Amino acid sequence: MELKLFNTLTRKKEVFKPIKKGHAGMYSCGPTVYWYQHIGNLRSYIFADLVKRVLQFNDYKVKHVVNVTDVGHLTSDKDEGEDKIEKAAREQGKKASEIAKLYLDVFLKDLKRVNVLMADVWPLASKHIKEQIELIKKLEKKGYTYKTSDGIYFNSAKFKSYGELAKLKIKGLKSGKRISRGEKKNKIDFALWKFSEEPGLRQQEWKSPWGLGFPGWHLECSAMSMKYLGKTFDIHTGGEEHIPVHHTNEIAQSESATGKKFVNYWLHGRWLMFSGEKMSKSKGEIFTLSELVRRGYNPLDFRYLSLLTHYRKPLHFSLENLDAAQNAYKKMKRKVSELRKEEHKGLDESKEYEKKFLEALNDDLNLPRAIQVVWKMLDDFDFSPKKKLNLLEKFDSVLGLDVKEMVEKKTKIPEEVIELVEEREKLRKAKMWKEADLFRERIREKGFVVEDRAEGPRLVGV
Ligand code: AMP
Ligand code: ZN
Repeated sequence: MELKLFNTLTRKKEVFKPIKKGHAGMYSCGPTVYWYQHIGNLRSYIFADLVKRVLQFNDYKVKHVVNVTDVGHLTSDKDEGEDKIEKAAREQGKKASEIAKLYLDVFLKDLKRVNVLMADVWPLASKHIKEQIELIKKLEKKGYTYKTSDGIYFNSAKFKSYGELAKLKIKGLKSGKRISRGEKKNKIDFALWKFSEEPGLRQQEWKSPWGLGFPGWHLECSAMSMKYLGKTFDIHTGGEEHIPVHHTNEIAQSESATGKKFVNYWLHGRWLMFSGEKMSKSKGEIFTLSELVRRGYNPLDFRYLSLLTHYRKPLHFSLENLDAAQNAYKKMKRKVSELRKEEHKGLDESKEYEKKFLEALNDDLNLPRAIQVVWKMLDDFDFSPKKKLNLLEKFDSVLGLDVKEMVEKKTKIPEEVIELVEEREKLRKAKMWKEADLFRERIREKGFVVEDRAEGPRLVGV
């Protein structure tokens, strides 16, 4: 079955055709490690993880590269402001490398907690200065660069298809009438190399043919992706805000340097929203994964929630939505525990359900539909429980919900709950349904759900 992915370049769902049969090279813009990543950031990495897992489910061997920005990302994406890592180091009185390590470690732990598969390569920008300088040299040789008092810039006017990804109307931007372009030739030009204002002022600076300084943020992604995946590679992922600037600039500098197409499929994930706005550190309230755990959630409740919204739609986060996802995930656990105990043989409908599941995945990663298929399958009474479980475990290679570990915890049922259940049974026998329902509510308040079975009432912890 063909895998279709929505390509931002063409704004269409396209059949995925790899450069090398059976292989997929994939690059995801990674974290700037100056602070904790919030659950909005995590949504982006769960999205990339799903792309990777769906490719693997389709038998592709995936090479996944995620960069770590530990230098060069300025507080404004427009080549202005302070370097985010340098600022954090100054404010926290630490070395830049300590800051990067601290937040990278937390980030990697969080990824593991939400079952994001580890990338094959995690290149750090500060460890790839040579590659970045080489790339600028290539661009310089081909006449794409110029010097200003604060750095070496890319001349976007020289790259004819600049802005194609974002469908930018460059003319308006170039005139630069309303916004000053300073020494830049075009307003949209961007820094490849920034000079240190004063030697020794920054913790991270390097010698280069143009002077002491540090690389621009866009450059690192071009240099490191091409180093590990080649001049042209299959898939590049990132957040939607990267379309007009960061990814547009990655394309411009990479294609100008190599003369080849940079990336075949550009995939962008929409944001996680909170109170109607993009969840963002600069905008206000953020939740980290640890905060959710402190509030009693399982990290996989958040993963489950992420599966319920298609990656090209905003995910409107609220604790109520997370509660609903938590309940659904618990219900899945209970269902799986029950299935493990079922004896009846039933039919083998694996092929049909696998086809439906794959159809949903291959339709531009329609995970919400895939989850519906999962529930339909779990509730299919005729389908053999054993085969059902086997198939669910197979599906879990994409879902990442720890199906294998799903066993119902043996919760000790308090004496008072047992008494309430007995009372309720008496009322039911006397056909006093309304009163019995009140008891069901009281049992629920104590954290248990009572299910009426042919063999008698059964309690389930919630
Ligand atoms: P940063 O560490 O700020 O460079 O961001 C890392 C990644 O998280 C980028 O790919 C962003 O696009 C993504 N990101 C940031 N905020 C959100 C959000 N609210 N929802 C989804 N992705 C986000
Ligand atoms: Zn990037």
